[in-house]
Amino acid sequence: MDAMDRAGRRSGTAEGVPLVDLAAAHAEVAEAVRAGFDRVLDGTAFIGGEEVREFEREYARFSGLAHCVGVANGTDAVELALRASGVRPGDEVVLPANTFIATAGAAARAGARPVLVDCLPDSYLIDPQQALDAVGPATRAVVPVHLYGQCAAAAELAARLPQRVRVVEDAAQSQGASRDGRPPGRGGIAATSFYPGKNLGAYGDAGAVLTDDAELADRVRLLANHGSRSKYLHEAAGFNSRLDALQAVVLRAKLERLAEGNAARRDAAARYHLLLAELAEAGRVVRPVAAEGNVHVWHLYVLRVPGADRDAVVGKLNAAGLGAAVHYPVPIHRTPAFAELGYGPGAFPHAERAAGEILSLPLFPQIRADQQEQVVRALTEALG
Ligand SMILES: *Cc1c(COP(=O)(O)O)cnc(C)c1O
Repeated sequence: MDAMDRAGRRSGTAEGVPLVDLAAAHAEVAEAVRAGFDRVLDGTAFIGGEEVREFEREYARFSGLAHCVGVANGTDAVELALRASGVRPGDEVVLPANTFIATAGAAARAGARPVLVDCLPDSYLIDPQQALDAVGPATRAVVPVHLYGQCAAAAELAARLPQRVRVVEDAAQSQGASRDGRPPGRGGIAATSFYPGKNLGAYGDAGAVLTDDAELADRVRLLANHGSRSKYLHEAAGFNSRLDALQAVVLRAKLERLAEGNAARRDAAARYHLLLAELAEAGRVVRPVAAEGNVHVWHLYVLRVPGADRDAVVGKLNAAGLGAAVHYPVPIHRTPAFAELGYGPGAFPHAERAAGEILSLPLFPQIRADQQEQVVRALTEALG
């Protein structure tokens, strides 16, 4: 998960650089949030209501899709999108080995068996050919994860998969991203998370499902509200996963700045690219690349340090008060939770190499050039 608890702040150090600066983000919206909280407290509509409806409308428009259904968190969003797409117990769901645990957890909670595939070596996005090859008679969905802020080949998958197999996009890290002009969810369904450290972050847990398909949206809404459209009439065995009004207030305020924040992230990523040029030429680091056709929103700036002791490098940066973390150190098949899937070490070589060599540098819209220079100086030193 986003390591905000390892944000790089250490008492005693002069001035660090956090991995993510949520205080700076809050300062920009503090007034709007307080005013919105007052509105909700006055009206006492704590679950659903006007703020939630307005946010859903605004976020659908921002995302370029017809429908947005606010839910309790991103993990539920993935599960709900899978279930609304027809995933049933005993089905198989194909997903990348290198993702946050929630992608696999959501599939498992829907009763499906996660079938893992490797990522592409340069972008770390799901390898579409391997995903197609993994499809069997029990496969009901493929989940491309738009990792680190850029979109995997979801449209290509949708075009090449058999009709019965749905594409359910995990867009938790790609708010505002697109690929070949196509936003996540177009022509299908996408799930996103508003975990505080995401590009659009709430002040607690929140998430959403996005789709152009009114029936799918309706199905998600039904499942997320006890299988009910009107009070005490339960059409399906659902559960409780709703967006609450206070979170909607925060999300509405922050949404106004999301496009600008994403642009600032792009600028910061471009600056890292230049600052890291020498290390890259020397083969000490491998910089992240934006896959062709992608509008990348740089949720994370993830590089590789081949040949170095990655954990020692992260440790040195943290000791200097600089945020650095690993997203994610253990691929799904190497976690105890999914050991039962039976994949051995070496099953997914690109995912495993990445897990051993990647590290994430501080990146947030308000990061300053001098902070990035400080980070790269410390990284250069740490690499020795
Ligand atoms: C954050 C995240 C999730 C889960 O979202 P939560 O809101 O924390 O439940 C799912 N998938 C990916 C890729 C994520 O980064």
